[in-house]
Amino acid sequence: MSDAIIIDGKAIADGYLSKIKEEVSRLPTRPCLAMVLVGDNPASLLYVRYKKKYAEDLGITSFLYMLPTETKEEELIHLVEDLNNNPQVDGILVQLPLPDHISEFKIISTIRPDKDVDGFTKENIGLLALKQDCLVPCTPLGCIKLLKSVKDDISGLNAVVIGRSNIVGRPLAQLLLNENCTVTLSHSHTQNLPDLCLSADILAVAVGKPGLVKGNWIKPGAIVLDVGISYLPDKSIKGDVDFEEAIKVAQAITPVPKGVGPMTKAMLMHNTVKAYKRRRNFIEDKK
Ligand code: NAD
Repeated sequence: MSDAIIIDGKAIADGYLSKIKEEVSRLPTRPCLAMVLVGDNPASLLYVRYKKKYAEDLGITSFLYMLPTETKEEELIHLVEDLNNNPQVDGILVQLPLPDHISEFKIISTIRPDKDVDGFTKENIGLLALKQDCLVPCTPLGCIKLLKSVKDDISGLNAVVIGRSNIVGRPLAQLLLNENCTVTLSHSHTQNLPDLCLSADILAVAVGKPGLVKGNWIKPGAIVLDVGISYLPDKSIKGDVDFEEAIKVAQAITPVPKGVGPMTKAMLMHNTVKAYKRRRNFIEDKK
């Protein structure tokens, strides 16, 4: 079998970003994204800076609130409430993880669902589960768009998702189910993972263990979405799938980097514009 199609997440994300930029230029005012970072986690700092740059490049106003690690839970709740009540703000993003003394659930539950551009509130997750229009978590939404760049109709395919986090695995499994896939959501307690993976027409991996999925776990012709990002001591970035082995077996695969990562940021911009338009009762386009 010839080598897999390498899904160019960067190019696909750039395509979305240029469409969003064009759309923003036609809006009567600029959408506004407020981001909150608590503490000095270097990866989180990098992520929010990238997101701010992406927003500004598209003509989206963005604010970054940087709070010290010692910030009290009530202080963060007050900031989120202020942003909820600020009519200028369309989207609110609180960068995770938060320091241990702050409840992520409490903070996310404080965000107004119509400004929840990460799609993490119980209201948006509930709507997703009921297959209703909502703000969909960015990484899973990006995964579905990448998948559809290879195969538009995924109805009836067997999909295996590895990893059951609230931000990636669970909502991705839900989206795949909404696309009529037969979905298995696996995790650290799953038995016989290699055999399960071999049944997958679509294999999505979001664990954070570099090279966990070997080439002989992949069904020939499968589409593989590698969400994992691990920073190795030599400063290289590695995904959860053994890429060199996987390209010999899969039909298509997302590389790491330049696969799912750029789509996550593009989908955040998509959600920000979506939140802006919904809050102002624009006619929703279904793209
Ligand atoms: P998480 O730590 O919250 O969840 C990891 C999941 O993996 C858990 O559900 C756990 O049960 C499962 N797991 C752990 N070991 C396992 C094993 N041996 N076999 C099967 N399952 C196992 O992580 P997360 O926040 O979902 O992120 C997962 C990875 O995706 C990380 O590398 C993260 O950096 C990356 N990520 C990438 C993007 C992106 O835009 N590309 C976005 C979010 C997360």
